[in-house]
Amino acid sequence: MKIRTYGNFNLAVIGGGMAGFAASLEASRRGAHVILIEHNAFPGGVATASLCPNIMGYSFNGRQIVSGIADELVRELDKIGCAAIKHKEANEFPIGNAAITSSVVTTKSALQYVMNNMLDKAKVHTLYYTSLVNARENDNKIKYICCNCREGVIRINASYFIDASGDAILLHRAGAETREYACEKSMAKTLLLHLGGVRNFCRTTVKESYVRACEKNGPPVPGQDNFMGFSIPFHENEVHLNFTMTAGEALTSSACTIMDKELRRQAFHGAEWFKKYIPGFEKSYIVDIADSIGVRCARGIVGRETITLKDITAENPVKEPLVFSNCYYGDHYVKNFHAPWRNYKSMIRPVPFGALVPVRLENVIAAGRCISSEPEVVTSFRLMATCMATGQAAGMAACFAPAKAVQNIRYSELEPELKRTGVLLL
Ligand SMILES: Cc1cc2nc3c(=O)[nH]c(=O)nc-3n(C[C@H](O)[C@H](O)[C@H](O)COP(=O)(O)OP(=O)(O)OC[C@H]3O[C@@H](n4cnc5c(N)ncnc54)[C@H](O)[C@@H]3O)c2cc1C
Repeated sequence: MKIRTYGNFNLAVIGGGMAGFAASLEASRRGAHVILIEHNAFPGGVATASLCPNIMGYSFNGRQIVSGIADELVRELDKIGCAAIKHKEANEFPIGNAAITSSVVTTKSALQYVMNNMLDKAKVHTLYYTSLVNARENDNKIKYICCNCREGVIRINASYFIDASGDAILLHRAGAETREYACEKSMAKTLLLHLGGVRNFCRTTVKESYVRACEKNGPPVPGQDNFMGFSIPFHENEVHLNFTMTAGEALTSSACTIMDKELRRQAFHGAEWFKKYIPGFEKSYIVDIADSIGVRCARGIVGRETITLKDITAENPVKEPLVFSNCYYGDHYVKNFHAPWRNYKSMIRPVPFGALVPVRLENVIAAGRCISSEPEVVTSFRLMATCMATGQAAGMAACFAPAKAVQNIRYSELEPELKRTGVLLL
């Protein structure tokens, strides 16, 4: 097979989800020649391909805990009238200069548009419709990667790499140490959907109706006793619903195909259930169903430091804090969405820098939901604002690293920049 060299870059970022987006922006703004490789036709990852325009992780107890690129994204969305701070019932928009004190609702298409604009403005070389296939490792360094793109297989050379693929695909393909999560310890796989034509949506009332309807008729999906949904403020009468779920490992295409089909059946069946049993949904119809199933976690890197259930439960201090994150965990359990170890204690904990640093490879750093962790506690850092912050930190670290192994970056060099840029806000 003929493999063409596509180009030489300072940094290649794999995955254009929230983490890869922020990583590419940060590094490019610092002057690095950055390529962002994304398998889909657009950026956003779970937020767009899995239809989840609900950015959480910005705040704790009414106070903003993450700023930086995660904040900038919201301000850009706000400029085009597509961002609202979500409160229990009301949505606050336009946001203006207000602090982000709750989650932010936007739309899939606004995210794709705004993220593209930001990446273009920062001169990131974006390459969509392109999948990482392989990574060539030598002497504890990735030398180059091979990607499948529309014109064939290409080779991309870079001095440095960021694994923001969600499932540690770069490290896995490079033969580096990764951790695969057992299906019963990872969370449910879900297909999110939007219904239009919903009248007078009020979350509290719908939640109550949902409980009553489940008691009387059984839930829309076996075991789904929890109503999760909210209205999309910019699309009249449209509601985002999160009720489909299945268990399964998401590391093979065959398993994902089986789960995808099952979840699409659940989505159609469940939409009928809402129509039949929930007041206000009588005339509802499906507006959009996610293109891809949402995978909360499947595989992570093995890092210099691992975020453990024990450390979080014991509230052990973090030596090298990157970003503060809400650290409840154990929701979305496969049987009924709540794991036995579930902990909803209201607290925040920083993500440690060491969780982004692979144990062995010297020119790679991870960001987003695939950083080093036990599967039970992935929720403690997987929310989107936190993923953007770990991405931004990884982009920063990549610019500090070229001359040395990532394992040798001193946290004291990073800390002032983390604070200056608002990644480490508290
Ligand atoms: C169903 C569901 C609901 C959720 N709800 C919320 C919520 O309401 N609020 C919230 O804040 N968070 C929520 N989350 C969590 C959050 O969405 C994710 O943890 C976060 O978006 C992950 O971002 P990421 O950039 O790390 O990974 P991803 O979004 O997974 O991005 C990884 C990117 O890498 C690309 N990629 C993968 N393999 C390759 C390859 N070989 N070549 C090229 N590209 C590749 C993918 O296409 C993808 O775009 C939810 C997650 C799920 C699954």
